[in-house]
Parts: sequence; C-alpha cells; structure tokens
Amino acid sequence: MTLLTFRFAPSPNGELHLGHAYSALLNQQMAKAAGGRLLLRIEDIDKTRCTPEFEAGIYRDLKWLGLGWEEPVRRQSDHFADYQAVLDRLIGQELVYPAFMSRGEIRAFITDSEKRGRNWPRDPDGVPLYPAADKALPVKERRRRIAENAPFAWRLDVDAAMAHVGRDLSWTEFVDETLSATRQIEARPRDWGDVIVARRDIPTSYHLAVVVDDALQEVSHVVRGQDLYAATSMQRLLQEVLDLPQPAYFHHRLILGPDGRKLSKSLGDTGLAALREAGASPDDIRRLVGL
Ligand code: GLU
Repeated sequence: MTLLTFRFAPSPNGELHLGHAYSALLNQQMAKAAGGRLLLRIEDIDKTRCTPEFEAGIYRDLKWLGLGWEEPVRRQSDHFADYQAVLDRLIGQELVYPAFMSRGEIRAFITDSEKRGRNWPRDPDGVPLYPAADKALPVKERRRRIAENAPFAWRLDVDAAMAHVGRDLSWTEFVDETLSATRQIEARPRDWGDVIVARRDIPTSYHLAVVVDDALQEVSHVVRGQDLYAATSMQRLLQEVLDLPQPAYFHHRLILGPDGRKLSKSLGDTGLAALREAGASPDDIRRLVGL
C-alpha cells in the first residue's frame, strides 16, 4: 500500500502568521489521522523577496509549534534544473511563447481597449489577462527580440494547451478534513488566461514549480487555503499537459484578521514569532486557529 503524502509549502518571503500555523497544523493532523507522511517544501523561487532569515524563521516557528517533517526539505531554488527541463519540454511542444509586453504596455493596451467600451477580462486574482498580441509574433521576430536581450516571460498558450489535452478537466476536492467524501470540481484554466510559466532568469513560476514538485514528491493530498482554490484550475491543466499524476485537494478555511480580511505577512501582531514573544504557547496558537 502506498502511503498518503501531505505537504506544507510556505514561501520564505515574510514571517509565518496564524494562517500558516492553521495550514501547517491541519496538514499535520490529517497526515497523522491517515497514517501518512508530512513533507515541508520551501517555495523560494522569487529570490528578490525570499531570504535565508525568513527561511530560518519558518523552521523555528514550525518546530516551536510541534510540527515534524521528513528530511531533506525540498528547497525549490536548489532545483532550477528540474524546472528548466520541464520548461524546455513545453517550449518543444509549442505550448508556451515568449511574451514581451511590460506591465506598463499591458496597462496602456488595456486602458485603450476599455476606452472603446470593452471590459477587459481579469483573472481570479483580479489581474487583467495578458493580451493575445505576442502569440501572433512570427518566430523570426521572437528570435530577433530574444537575441537583442529584450525582457520577456514564457507564457502558457492556454487555448493551445486545452486543445492539446482535448477534454474538460476537473479535480477531486474533499468535502472536509475527515477525507470521508469528495466531489468533482470543474477546472476552468481559461479564467487565468496565458499565465507566466517561467521568466527569462528564473526557469519556473509558482504554478509550474508546484505541479512539478507535487509530482516529484509523490504528494497525494494537497491541503492548502481557500485562497488557492482557483489556482487549482491552472495546476490541473499543467498536470495534464505534462502527464503528471493528479493529487486530491482540500482547500481549508482561511484565518481572518480582526478586520475580517485575509492575514498578510506584514501584519506583525498575528505573526507567530511576535505571539511567542508575547508569551503565547503552542496550545494558545491551536486555540486561536480553532484546532
Ligand atoms: N507557496 C505557496 C504560498 O505560500 C503555497 C503553495 C501551495 O500550497 O500550493 O502561498
């Protein structure tokens, strides 16, 4: 029998807060109840925002909370070669294209189009979808711009990827943390448009690294916050395109701040280190997050 495998995958771009504590402890509790494994993964592909200090803080906070995980911990920035290989495959399949528009150019393009009375579509995070213009660039022109060192990002051609897969996609979502019942959720990758899958200097993106790692680490159960529910649509598409197995998902409730909003890494008073220094115990944290 294969063991069920859970993971907690924080990004070291800030301090852990109560929301992370809930996610980590819930993963621990569910893995234990299932007799499964718990992995910790450090998602640090964004080297401009992630720091060794924040990473050290993650280990410190999680140990204090009583979380145990398997070693070695996978740190994404140590594995760029793995992602590059997958990116090369997508380039070979012509499912990605180099996108050259800067943020400013995208904004101007969209403002212009909205002036003409058309509402520009946004992705589930509220970000305007990438205009289709670069998809039509002739190969020669792409090569010329890349040779000239023009900045670009690799974007997934979502229509081409959907056509490649050739069928509608869904994912398995657990109804609650007891894992006793599931339902199928329709995946809507087109809602995200042509997402970035890699940058010129980083051969991956959040979506790509997550699906590659979940497969490599044989993660069977992805337990994470509801804020990533919509992201699952895009991740299912990438799994299909790359012939990767699909885990089952449970998107848990979010811990909200006193203002009813999602906690952010800049909210010092809900940070685990600050709570610990103020005298809170791990049991207090459990109580605070309702576990
Ligand atoms: N690294 C992501 C975050 O900290 C979570 C990725 C995931 O659970 O899929 O928000």
